Amino acid sequence: MYLSPASFFADFYVYPALAVILMAFAFYRSPTHWLAVLVAFVIGFCSWTFIEYIMHRYVLHHLTYIKDQHAKHHDDQKALFGTPTWLSLVVILVLASGPAVTYAGLVLGSAFTAGLMLGYLGYTLAHYSIHHWNARPGSFLFRLKQRHALHHHYNDLGNFGVSIGIWDYVFRTNIVVRRDDSHPAGAH
Ligand SMILES: [Zn+2]
Ligand SMILES: [Zn+2]
Repeated sequence: MYLSPASFFADFYVYPALAVILMAFAFYRSPTHWLAVLVAFVIGFCSWTFIEYIMHRYVLHHLTYIKDQHAKHHDDQKALFGTPTWLSLVVILVLASGPAVTYAGLVLGSAFTAGLMLGYLGYTLAHYSIHHWNARPGSFLFRLKQRHALHHHYNDLGNFGVSIGIWDYVFRTNIVVRRDDSHPAGAH
């Protein structure tokens, strides 16, 4: 949905603060298991990339109401369009943190949640910079912009990964531009 600047950028304040609090809690509650806490954080951070792919491919492009909202972003890419922080927070807590805490306990579940939150923040930052920042040819951001532009303008059945393309390679939905004729090609 369309967001005010304050609402759009709230992610950038709320999620780092929550991640610091959760990690401080995890280290405080279980200082001797600091390595397990760090591993849980990294697993949470990396897990986000998979959730990002699944959400974009199956939720944003297929689920009633949500797909209409996402279509507005496809039509108006410069608008501050996104998920309000309170809503993404509820989704993360209910669908990811709840099962993680149930399965791994409060300490490791908290560290996993902190990693997931920073992964989500990385996605939000990547998507914002893709649509709003200029990038030097050959840079990491330039390649992200190219990948995402193909999703927007050529084939919205591919390049679902925004912050990283690894799951598009795994699930064969990666779209690339052929060097010989500059025509996009790839999975459809
Ligand atoms: Zn986009
Ligand atoms: Zn899309």
